[in-house]
Amino acid sequence: MKILVMNCGSSSLKYQLIDMNDESVLAKGLCERIGIEGSRLIHRPTGKDRYIVDTDMPDHGVAVLLVLEALSDPEHGVIRSAAEISGIGHRVLHGGKTITQSCVIDQHVKDVIRECFDLGPLHNPANLIGIEACEAAMPGKINVAVFDTSFGMGMEPKAYRYAIPDRYYEEYGVRRYGFHGTSHDFVSHEALKYLDLDPEKGKVIVCHLGNGASISASVGGVCVETSMGLTPLEGLIMGTRSGDVDPAVVQYITNKEGWTVDDTLNLLNKKSGMQALSGVSSDFRDIEAAIYQGDEKAKMAMETYVHRLVKYIGAYNTVLKGADAIVFTAGVGENGPMVRRMVCEYLEFLGVKIDEDTNRSAFGKQVVLSTEDSSIKVAVIPTNEELAIARDTLKFL
Ligand code: ADP
Repeated sequence: MKILVMNCGSSSLKYQLIDMNDESVLAKGLCERIGIEGSRLIHRPTGKDRYIVDTDMPDHGVAVLLVLEALSDPEHGVIRSAAEISGIGHRVLHGGKTITQSCVIDQHVKDVIRECFDLGPLHNPANLIGIEACEAAMPGKINVAVFDTSFGMGMEPKAYRYAIPDRYYEEYGVRRYGFHGTSHDFVSHEALKYLDLDPEKGKVIVCHLGNGASISASVGGVCVETSMGLTPLEGLIMGTRSGDVDPAVVQYITNKEGWTVDDTLNLLNKKSGMQALSGVSSDFRDIEAAIYQGDEKAKMAMETYVHRLVKYIGAYNTVLKGADAIVFTAGVGENGPMVRRMVCEYLEFLGVKIDEDTNRSAFGKQVVLSTEDSSIKVAVIPTNEELAIARDTLKFL
């Protein structure tokens, strides 16, 4: 059984074809600059050479057809025809207040995705375009939507409500949703298995530290807290996002600069975070290199990042009344020994102990960092959002 996983952005389309018999990736790729001059398809079939097609892609419909051609190309393909694809799983950003889990896409689901355009203005329209392009290119196949907000729907009102009048929740859906849900869901369930925790009661804190960063607390894989809010801006310090700020900062900067609110939010989303604090880059590889060269500003940025992170871990450990495990994932979590070490050193007072040699050599692989006598297990578990989407899709086939 082969499942095609689609992740559509406004001008891009990422895909993976996964063989669910052994969960292996048969091919993956990317269409970039869709609707813009210079569009190209980069196709990576497993075990074969990379295949690049430079051709016009005026819209996502054309891009999907090119992906199907590449997948079934006699030389570069991995299947004979699209008939071998059993179903398509789509990453969708926002499911609003009503959708709590992955579902087969029908008119109602498409209506909800459209109703949530306001809540996910950069992603939901592109996600819907991708879905409709697949429906047109492969009529009759099951399409499944896997929402980034589903995991956060596990939260109780005491965790997801903002302390503002009911009207804004009821009429406009203003609440905390949480994002990176597919990753938090996948990694927290993997942690229950890998660390041999009680599948129903195991208490896990997942630190998803990529360009975007968020943290979640779950019990038995059900989310009880997660740091992103109405939008992905809330919570941890990220590559270019500020994370938590006093909302009055928005008013203050807007007035001082003579800007609009949108201008200030653009600043907080795209020109803040580690990029602004370090003055070096939003990329942790550059920041770590600067720290090793004695750059004080980069060092301060890293300390601020870790401070925010341990503050959240402390809060979530309390919400959980004691976590069983803390797991690091995504780009920095999987490949950043410095951040992991700084966080775990901070938590020593709680009885957390890790093996620093193991930490230093842990890059992109599943590994337990904590020692036998650590009060809380600590591990690195690589995230795999595409596999999570494919697994959810399989449930409906
Ligand atoms: P995205 O949120 O875009 O999916 P990723 O999870 O791929 O992000 O994470 C990307 C980030 O991971 C990079 O910006 C970089 O900061 C970090 N990263 C990747 N490799 C390393 C490394 N070897 N050491 C430290 N940080 C790394």
